[in-house]
Amino acid sequence: MAAAVHGADAPDLAEIRKCVHCGICLPQCPTYRVLGEEMDSPRGRIYLMRARAEGRLGLSVTFQHHLDLCLGCRACETACPSGVKFGSLLEATRAQLRREGPPSKHRLLQAFVFSVFPEPGRLGLALAAFKLYGRSGLRALVRATGVLHRFPRLAAMEALLEDVPAAVPLPAIVPARGRTVGRVGLLTGCVQRHLYPGVNRDTARLLALAGFEVVIPRSQGCCGALELHAGRVDAYVSRARALAAAFPDDLDFVVTNAAGCGSAMKEYGHRMPDIAGFAARVRDVTELLADADLPLGALDLTVTYHDACHLVHGQRVREEPRRLLRRIPGLRLVELRDSDLCCGSAGIYNLLEPGTAGTLRDAKVARIAETGARVVAAANPGCLLQIAWGCRERALDVTLVHPVELLARAADAYQG
Ligand code: SF4
Ligand code: SF4
Repeated sequence: MAAAVHGADAPDLAEIRKCVHCGICLPQCPTYRVLGEEMDSPRGRIYLMRARAEGRLGLSVTFQHHLDLCLGCRACETACPSGVKFGSLLEATRAQLRREGPPSKHRLLQAFVFSVFPEPGRLGLALAAFKLYGRSGLRALVRATGVLHRFPRLAAMEALLEDVPAAVPLPAIVPARGRTVGRVGLLTGCVQRHLYPGVNRDTARLLALAGFEVVIPRSQGCCGALELHAGRVDAYVSRARALAAAFPDDLDFVVTNAAGCGSAMKEYGHRMPDIAGFAARVRDVTELLADADLPLGALDLTVTYHDACHLVHGQRVREEPRRLLRRIPGLRLVELRDSDLCCGSAGIYNLLEPGTAGTLRDAKVARIAETGARVVAAANPGCLLQIAWGCRERALDVTLVHPVELLARAADAYQG
Protein backbone atom coordinates (compact mmCIF):
# COMPACT_ATOMS: atom_id res chain seq x y z
CA MET A 1 0.00 0.00 0.00
CA ALA A 2 1.23 3.53 -0.84
CA ALA A 3 2.01 5.91 2.02
CA ALA A 4 -0.52 8.63 2.88
CA VAL A 5 0.43 12.01 1.43
CA HIS A 6 1.41 14.86 3.71
CA GLY A 7 3.23 18.15 3.24
CA ALA A 8 2.43 21.79 2.60
CA ASP A 9 1.87 21.33 -1.12
CA ALA A 10 -0.19 18.13 -0.91
CA PRO A 11 -3.81 18.32 -2.14
CA ASP A 12 -5.97 19.36 0.82
CA LEU A 13 -7.68 16.19 2.12
CA ALA A 14 -10.42 18.22 3.84
CA GLU A 15 -11.19 19.84 0.47
CA ILE A 16 -11.19 16.44 -1.25
CA ARG A 17 -13.61 15.09 1.39
CA LYS A 18 -16.08 17.89 0.67
CA CYS A 19 -17.04 15.88 -2.43
CA VAL A 20 -20.26 13.97 -1.59
CA HIS A 21 -20.18 12.01 -4.88
CA CYS A 22 -23.52 13.47 -6.00
CA GLY A 23 -22.50 13.50 -9.68
CA ILE A 24 -24.06 16.91 -10.41
CA CYS A 25 -20.77 17.99 -12.01
CA LEU A 26 -20.63 15.07 -14.47
CA PRO A 27 -22.80 16.49 -17.30
CA GLN A 28 -20.84 19.77 -17.09
CA CYS A 29 -17.45 18.06 -17.48
CA PRO A 30 -16.20 18.20 -21.09
CA THR A 31 -13.96 15.14 -20.79
CA TYR A 32 -16.76 13.06 -19.24
CA ARG A 33 -19.05 14.14 -22.06
CA VAL A 34 -16.49 13.09 -24.69
CA LEU A 35 -15.00 9.98 -23.07
CA GLY A 36 -17.90 8.72 -20.92
CA GLU A 37 -15.54 7.30 -18.28
CA GLU A 38 -16.11 7.85 -14.56
CA MET A 39 -12.35 8.29 -14.05
CA ASP A 40 -12.41 11.09 -16.63
CA SER A 41 -15.06 12.96 -14.64
CA PRO A 42 -14.51 15.36 -11.70
CA ARG A 43 -15.96 12.81 -9.27
CA GLY A 44 -13.69 10.07 -10.60
CA ARG A 45 -10.60 12.29 -10.47
CA ILE A 46 -11.43 13.36 -6.92
CA TYR A 47 -11.83 9.67 -6.02
CA LEU A 48 -8.30 9.05 -7.37
CA MET A 49 -6.92 12.04 -5.45
CA ARG A 50 -8.57 10.82 -2.25
CA ALA A 51 -7.26 7.30 -2.65
CA ARG A 52 -3.80 8.75 -3.16
CA ALA A 53 -4.07 11.19 -0.24
CA GLU A 54 -5.22 8.39 2.09
CA GLY A 55 -2.36 6.17 1.02
CA ARG A 56 -4.47 3.60 -0.85
CA LEU A 57 -3.07 4.36 -4.33
CA GLY A 58 0.31 5.25 -5.79
CA LEU A 59 1.08 7.66 -8.61
CA SER A 60 0.71 5.12 -11.40
CA VAL A 61 0.63 5.64 -15.16
CA THR A 62 -3.16 5.12 -15.04
CA PHE A 63 -3.52 7.78 -12.35
CA GLN A 64 -1.40 10.13 -14.44
CA HIS A 65 -3.42 9.37 -17.59
CA HIS A 66 -6.75 10.44 -16.05
CA LEU A 67 -5.22 13.58 -14.56
CA ASP A 68 -3.50 14.43 -17.87
CA LEU A 69 -6.85 14.24 -19.66
CA CYS A 70 -8.38 16.88 -17.39
CA LEU A 71 -8.64 20.27 -19.11
CA GLY A 72 -8.46 22.21 -15.87
CA CYS A 73 -11.50 24.11 -17.16
CA ARG A 74 -13.13 24.27 -13.71
CA ALA A 75 -16.67 23.81 -15.06
CA CYS A 76 -17.02 21.29 -12.21
CA GLU A 77 -16.38 24.08 -9.67
CA THR A 78 -19.23 26.14 -11.07
CA ALA A 79 -21.54 23.11 -10.95
CA CYS A 80 -20.56 21.73 -7.54
CA PRO A 81 -23.11 22.39 -4.75
CA SER A 82 -20.51 21.43 -2.11
CA GLY A 83 -18.09 24.09 -3.34
CA VAL A 84 -15.18 21.70 -4.00
CA LYS A 85 -12.23 23.78 -5.25
CA PHE A 86 -11.25 21.37 -7.98
CA GLY A 87 -8.77 23.73 -9.65
CA SER A 88 -6.49 23.95 -6.62
CA LEU A 89 -6.74 20.18 -6.01
CA LEU A 90 -5.71 19.59 -9.62
CA GLU A 91 -2.77 22.01 -9.41
CA ALA A 92 -1.47 20.33 -6.24
CA THR A 93 -1.91 16.84 -7.68
CA ARG A 94 -0.11 17.76 -10.89
CA ALA A 95 2.76 19.21 -8.86
CA GLN A 96 3.06 15.88 -7.04
CA LEU A 97 2.86 13.90 -10.26
CA ARG A 98 5.59 16.02 -11.74
CA ARG A 99 7.84 15.50 -8.74
CA GLU A 100 7.13 11.89 -7.82
CA GLY A 101 5.11 10.34 -10.65
CA PRO A 102 6.15 8.31 -13.69
CA PRO A 103 7.85 10.23 -16.52
CA SER A 104 5.24 12.12 -18.51
CA LYS A 105 4.60 11.01 -22.09
CA HIS A 106 4.46 14.73 -22.89
CA ARG A 107 7.85 15.62 -21.42
CA LEU A 108 9.59 16.51 -24.70
CA LEU A 109 6.81 18.73 -25.97
CA GLN A 110 6.41 20.27 -22.52
CA ALA A 111 10.14 20.98 -22.33
CA PHE A 112 9.89 22.88 -25.62
CA VAL A 113 6.71 24.72 -24.68
CA PHE A 114 7.94 25.80 -21.25
CA SER A 115 11.27 26.98 -22.58
CA VAL A 116 9.59 29.15 -25.24
CA PHE A 117 5.98 30.16 -24.48
CA PRO A 118 6.50 32.02 -21.16
CA GLU A 119 9.53 33.90 -22.53
CA PRO A 120 8.22 36.74 -24.72
CA GLY A 121 11.60 37.20 -26.46
CA ARG A 122 11.99 33.53 -27.39
CA LEU A 123 8.32 33.25 -28.34
CA GLY A 124 8.76 36.24 -30.67
CA LEU A 125 11.72 34.54 -32.38
CA ALA A 126 9.86 31.23 -32.72
CA LEU A 127 6.86 33.03 -34.23
CA ALA A 128 9.08 34.95 -36.64
CA ALA A 129 10.48 31.60 -37.84
CA PHE A 130 6.93 30.28 -38.18
CA LYS A 131 5.94 33.33 -40.21
CA LEU A 132 8.81 32.64 -42.58
CA TYR A 133 7.77 28.99 -42.79
CA GLY A 134 4.21 30.02 -43.72
CA ARG A 135 5.13 32.65 -46.27
CA SER A 136 8.07 30.92 -47.96
CA GLY A 137 6.03 28.11 -49.45
CA LEU A 138 7.61 25.57 -47.12
CA ARG A 139 4.32 25.11 -45.30
CA ALA A 140 2.48 24.20 -48.50
CA LEU A 141 5.25 21.73 -49.33
CA VAL A 142 5.17 20.09 -45.88
CA ARG A 143 1.40 19.80 -46.00
CA ALA A 144 1.49 18.31 -49.49
CA THR A 145 3.78 15.49 -48.28
CA GLY A 146 1.27 14.50 -45.56
CA VAL A 147 4.20 13.83 -43.22
CA LEU A 148 2.57 15.73 -40.36
CA HIS A 149 -0.20 13.10 -40.07
CA ARG A 150 2.39 10.82 -38.49
CA PHE A 151 2.98 13.33 -35.68
CA PRO A 152 -0.44 14.45 -34.40
CA ARG A 153 0.94 16.80 -31.73
CA LEU A 154 3.24 18.54 -34.18
CA ALA A 155 0.39 18.68 -36.69
CA ALA A 156 -1.82 20.34 -34.07
CA MET A 157 0.84 22.97 -33.37
CA GLU A 158 1.30 23.64 -37.08
CA ALA A 159 -2.41 23.86 -37.88
CA LEU A 160 -3.37 25.98 -34.87
CA LEU A 161 -1.63 29.03 -36.19
CA GLU A 162 -2.66 30.46 -39.54
CA ASP A 163 -0.37 33.49 -39.59
CA VAL A 164 1.57 35.85 -37.33
CA PRO A 165 0.45 39.49 -37.37
CA ALA A 166 2.76 42.49 -37.43
CA ALA A 167 3.75 43.87 -34.03
CA VAL A 168 1.80 46.83 -32.62
CA PRO A 169 4.07 49.03 -30.49
CA LEU A 170 2.46 50.37 -27.30
CA PRO A 171 3.58 53.44 -25.34
CA ALA A 172 4.65 53.07 -21.70
CA ILE A 173 1.74 55.30 -20.65
CA VAL A 174 -1.58 56.00 -22.36
CA PRO A 175 -3.14 59.15 -20.84
CA ALA A 176 -6.80 59.20 -19.80
CA ARG A 177 -9.20 60.94 -22.15
CA GLY A 178 -11.35 63.55 -20.43
CA ARG A 179 -11.83 63.35 -16.66
CA THR A 180 -9.37 60.94 -15.01
CA VAL A 181 -11.15 58.32 -12.89
CA GLY A 182 -8.14 56.17 -12.02
CA ARG A 183 -4.75 54.71 -12.95
CA VAL A 184 -4.41 51.13 -14.12
CA GLY A 185 -1.67 48.77 -15.29
CA LEU A 186 -2.11 46.62 -18.40
CA LEU A 187 -0.83 43.05 -18.68
CA THR A 188 0.23 42.53 -22.29
CA GLY A 189 0.57 38.72 -21.97
CA CYS A 190 2.93 36.35 -23.80
CA VAL A 191 0.64 35.00 -26.51
CA GLN A 192 -1.57 38.07 -26.58
CA ARG A 193 1.23 40.54 -27.32
CA HIS A 194 2.53 38.47 -30.25
CA LEU A 195 -0.61 36.96 -31.77
CA TYR A 196 -3.29 39.51 -30.89
CA PRO A 197 -1.42 42.80 -30.48
CA GLY A 198 -4.51 44.71 -31.65
CA VAL A 199 -6.38 43.45 -28.57
CA ASN A 200 -3.84 45.12 -26.28
CA ARG A 201 -3.98 48.33 -28.30
CA ASP A 202 -7.81 48.36 -28.18
CA THR A 203 -7.82 47.53 -24.46
CA ALA A 204 -5.55 50.48 -23.67
CA ARG A 205 -7.58 52.78 -25.89
CA LEU A 206 -10.91 51.84 -24.34
CA LEU A 207 -9.57 52.15 -20.81
CA ALA A 208 -8.29 55.62 -21.69
CA LEU A 209 -11.70 56.51 -23.17
CA ALA A 210 -13.26 55.34 -19.90
CA GLY A 211 -11.05 57.81 -18.03
CA PHE A 212 -8.17 55.59 -16.88
CA GLU A 213 -4.51 56.45 -17.27
CA VAL A 214 -2.95 53.20 -18.52
CA VAL A 215 0.54 52.15 -17.45
CA ILE A 216 2.17 49.43 -19.60
CA PRO A 217 5.47 48.36 -17.96
CA ARG A 218 8.00 47.23 -20.55
CA SER A 219 9.73 44.94 -18.07
CA GLN A 220 6.66 42.76 -17.48
CA GLY A 221 7.05 39.05 -18.21
CA CYS A 222 4.79 36.00 -18.05
CA CYS A 223 2.11 35.57 -15.36
CA GLY A 224 3.03 31.90 -14.83
CA ALA A 225 -0.47 30.50 -15.56
CA LEU A 226 0.72 27.77 -17.93
CA GLU A 227 3.28 26.60 -15.38
CA LEU A 228 0.75 26.57 -12.55
CA HIS A 229 -1.62 24.39 -14.54
CA ALA A 230 1.18 21.96 -15.36
CA GLY A 231 2.26 21.60 -11.73
CA ARG A 232 5.48 23.62 -12.20
CA VAL A 233 4.86 25.49 -9.01
CA ASP A 234 8.38 26.89 -8.41
CA ALA A 235 8.48 28.49 -11.87
CA TYR A 236 4.95 29.85 -11.37
CA VAL A 237 5.87 31.41 -8.02
CA SER A 238 8.98 33.14 -9.33
CA ARG A 239 7.17 34.46 -12.42
CA ALA A 240 4.27 35.71 -10.28
CA ARG A 241 6.57 37.63 -7.93
CA ALA A 242 8.55 39.12 -10.85
CA LEU A 243 5.34 40.21 -12.57
CA ALA A 244 3.94 41.85 -9.44
CA ALA A 245 7.24 43.71 -8.98
CA ALA A 246 7.10 45.04 -12.56
CA PHE A 247 3.95 47.09 -11.85
CA PRO A 248 3.94 50.29 -9.76
CA ASP A 249 2.38 50.00 -6.28
CA ASP A 250 0.01 52.93 -6.67
CA LEU A 251 -2.25 51.49 -9.39
CA ASP A 252 -5.97 51.23 -8.74
CA PHE A 253 -6.24 48.09 -10.85
CA VAL A 254 -4.13 45.72 -12.95
CA VAL A 255 -6.08 44.86 -16.10
CA THR A 256 -5.91 41.65 -18.11
CA ASN A 257 -7.62 40.74 -21.36
CA ALA A 258 -6.61 37.06 -21.37
CA ALA A 259 -8.85 34.89 -19.18
CA GLY A 260 -6.17 32.34 -18.29
CA CYS A 261 -3.74 35.02 -17.11
CA GLY A 262 -6.38 36.89 -15.12
CA SER A 263 -7.54 33.76 -13.34
CA ALA A 264 -4.01 32.81 -12.26
CA MET A 265 -3.17 36.38 -11.19
CA LYS A 266 -6.33 36.80 -9.10
CA GLU A 267 -5.27 33.68 -7.16
CA TYR A 268 -1.63 34.67 -6.50
CA GLY A 269 -2.49 35.34 -2.86
CA HIS A 270 -3.40 31.69 -2.19
CA ARG A 271 0.24 30.64 -2.33
CA MET A 272 1.95 34.02 -1.94
CA PRO A 273 0.45 36.21 0.78
CA ASP A 274 3.19 38.80 0.05
CA ILE A 275 1.55 39.63 -3.31
CA ALA A 276 -2.08 39.17 -2.20
CA GLY A 277 -2.56 42.96 -2.46
CA PHE A 278 -1.47 42.89 -6.10
CA ALA A 279 -3.82 39.96 -6.79
CA ALA A 280 -6.76 41.81 -5.22
CA ARG A 281 -6.35 44.63 -7.76
CA VAL A 282 -6.49 42.37 -10.83
CA ARG A 283 -9.56 42.80 -13.05
CA ASP A 284 -10.59 41.49 -16.42
CA VAL A 285 -11.01 44.38 -18.85
CA THR A 286 -14.73 43.60 -19.23
CA GLU A 287 -15.25 44.03 -15.48
CA LEU A 288 -13.79 47.54 -15.58
CA LEU A 289 -15.54 48.62 -18.76
CA ALA A 290 -18.97 47.13 -17.97
CA ASP A 291 -20.16 50.25 -16.16
CA ALA A 292 -17.92 52.80 -17.89
CA ASP A 293 -19.34 55.64 -19.92
CA LEU A 294 -18.13 54.76 -23.43
CA PRO A 295 -19.16 56.59 -26.58
CA LEU A 296 -20.29 53.78 -28.92
CA GLY A 297 -21.56 54.05 -32.47
CA ALA A 298 -23.61 51.46 -34.36
CA LEU A 299 -22.32 48.12 -35.73
CA ASP A 300 -24.65 46.13 -37.94
CA LEU A 301 -23.46 42.69 -36.85
CA THR A 302 -24.83 39.40 -35.55
CA VAL A 303 -22.46 38.17 -32.87
CA THR A 304 -22.30 35.17 -30.59
CA TYR A 305 -20.20 34.91 -27.43
CA HIS A 306 -18.12 31.98 -26.20
CA ASP A 307 -17.35 31.92 -22.46
CA ALA A 308 -13.64 31.28 -21.91
CA CYS A 309 -13.39 28.75 -19.04
CA HIS A 310 -10.97 30.80 -16.97
CA LEU A 311 -13.20 33.84 -17.25
CA VAL A 312 -16.57 32.21 -16.52
CA HIS A 313 -15.50 29.37 -14.19
CA GLY A 314 -12.13 30.68 -12.95
CA GLN A 315 -13.18 34.32 -12.40
CA ARG A 316 -16.99 34.01 -12.42
CA VAL A 317 -17.23 36.77 -15.04
CA ARG A 318 -20.26 35.85 -17.13
CA GLU A 319 -22.53 38.84 -17.52
CA GLU A 320 -20.09 41.72 -18.02
CA PRO A 321 -18.91 40.84 -21.56
CA ARG A 322 -22.50 40.23 -22.68
CA ARG A 323 -23.65 43.48 -21.11
CA LEU A 324 -20.90 45.36 -22.94
CA LEU A 325 -21.70 43.79 -26.30
CA ARG A 326 -25.42 44.55 -25.88
CA ARG A 327 -24.55 48.21 -25.38
CA ILE A 328 -23.29 48.48 -28.97
CA PRO A 329 -26.15 49.97 -31.03
CA GLY A 330 -27.21 47.73 -33.92
CA LEU A 331 -25.31 44.68 -32.65
CA ARG A 332 -27.45 41.55 -32.24
CA LEU A 333 -26.09 39.16 -29.62
CA VAL A 334 -27.23 35.57 -30.20
CA GLU A 335 -26.69 33.15 -27.33
CA LEU A 336 -24.50 30.13 -28.06
CA ARG A 337 -25.66 26.74 -26.74
CA ASP A 338 -23.10 25.27 -24.32
CA SER A 339 -21.29 28.62 -24.43
CA ASP A 340 -19.42 27.76 -21.22
CA LEU A 341 -18.29 24.30 -22.34
CA CYS A 342 -14.55 24.21 -23.05
CA CYS A 343 -13.47 24.56 -26.71
CA GLY A 344 -10.52 22.22 -26.10
CA SER A 345 -7.84 24.90 -26.03
CA ALA A 346 -7.12 24.86 -22.27
CA GLY A 347 -3.62 26.31 -22.25
CA ILE A 348 -1.57 23.79 -24.22
CA TYR A 349 -4.07 20.91 -23.89
CA ASN A 350 -4.87 21.12 -27.61
CA LEU A 351 -1.21 20.35 -28.36
CA LEU A 352 -0.84 17.60 -25.74
CA GLU A 353 -4.18 15.84 -26.23
CA PRO A 354 -5.19 16.65 -29.82
CA GLY A 355 -7.82 13.88 -30.00
CA THR A 356 -10.06 15.00 -27.13
CA ALA A 357 -9.33 18.66 -27.84
CA GLY A 358 -10.33 18.20 -31.48
CA THR A 359 -13.67 16.63 -30.52
CA LEU A 360 -14.42 19.57 -28.22
CA ARG A 361 -13.33 22.08 -30.86
CA ASP A 362 -15.59 20.52 -33.49
CA ALA A 363 -18.53 20.47 -31.07
CA LYS A 364 -17.99 24.17 -30.35
CA VAL A 365 -17.87 25.01 -34.06
CA ALA A 366 -21.09 23.04 -34.67
CA ARG A 367 -22.82 25.10 -31.96
CA ILE A 368 -21.50 28.31 -33.54
CA ALA A 369 -22.86 27.25 -36.92
CA GLU A 370 -26.32 26.82 -35.32
CA THR A 371 -26.39 30.50 -34.30
CA GLY A 372 -25.99 31.93 -37.80
CA ALA A 373 -23.64 34.57 -36.35
CA ARG A 374 -20.81 35.79 -38.58
CA VAL A 375 -18.75 37.04 -35.65
CA VAL A 376 -17.70 35.09 -32.54
CA ALA A 377 -16.40 36.97 -29.52
CA ALA A 378 -14.22 35.31 -26.86
CA ALA A 379 -12.02 36.89 -24.19
CA ASN A 380 -9.00 34.60 -24.31
CA PRO A 381 -6.30 34.20 -27.01
CA GLY A 382 -6.19 30.40 -26.68
CA CYS A 383 -9.94 30.13 -27.37
CA LEU A 384 -9.65 32.52 -30.33
CA LEU A 385 -6.89 30.40 -31.89
CA GLN A 386 -8.66 27.09 -31.23
CA ILE A 387 -12.09 28.14 -32.50
CA ALA A 388 -10.63 29.92 -35.54
CA TRP A 389 -8.79 26.69 -36.40
CA GLY A 390 -12.05 24.72 -36.08
CA CYS A 391 -13.90 27.19 -38.28
CA ARG A 392 -11.18 26.95 -40.96
CA GLU A 393 -11.41 23.15 -40.88
CA ARG A 394 -15.17 23.31 -41.39
CA ALA A 395 -14.94 26.20 -43.88
CA LEU A 396 -17.31 28.18 -41.64
CA ASP A 397 -17.12 31.82 -42.61
CA VAL A 398 -16.94 33.57 -39.24
CA THR A 399 -14.56 36.11 -37.76
CA LEU A 400 -13.10 35.57 -34.28
CA VAL A 401 -12.62 38.64 -32.11
CA HIS A 402 -12.03 39.69 -28.55
CA PRO A 403 -14.99 41.76 -27.21
CA VAL A 404 -12.73 44.83 -26.90
CA GLU A 405 -12.14 44.75 -30.67
CA LEU A 406 -15.87 45.16 -31.27
CA LEU A 407 -16.08 47.91 -28.66
CA ALA A 408 -13.15 49.72 -30.28
CA ARG A 409 -14.84 49.49 -33.69
CA ALA A 410 -18.03 50.84 -32.15
CA ALA A 411 -16.06 53.70 -30.57
CA ASP A 412 -14.64 54.49 -34.03
CA ALA A 413 -18.18 54.53 -35.42
CA TYR A 414 -19.38 57.01 -32.78
CA GLN A 415 -20.37 60.28 -34.34
CA GLY A 416 -21.18 62.30 -31.24
S1 SF4 B 1 -11.62 20.77 -14.66
FE1 SF4 B 1 -12.97 20.49 -16.46
S2 SF4 B 1 -12.21 18.62 -17.45
FE2 SF4 B 1 -11.32 18.65 -15.39
S3 SF4 B 1 -12.74 17.46 -14.12
FE3 SF4 B 1 -13.41 19.62 -13.94
S4 SF4 B 1 -14.96 19.89 -15.53
FE4 SF4 B 1 -13.83 17.99 -16.02
S1 SF4 C 1 -20.72 18.11 -7.86
FE1 SF4 C 1 -19.15 18.42 -6.28
S2 SF4 C 1 -19.79 17.07 -4.60
FE2 SF4 C 1 -20.92 16.38 -6.43
S3 SF4 C 1 -19.61 14.77 -7.35
FE3 SF4 C 1 -19.03 16.70 -8.34
S4 SF4 C 1 -17.31 17.47 -7.12
FE4 SF4 C 1 -18.32 15.90 -5.87
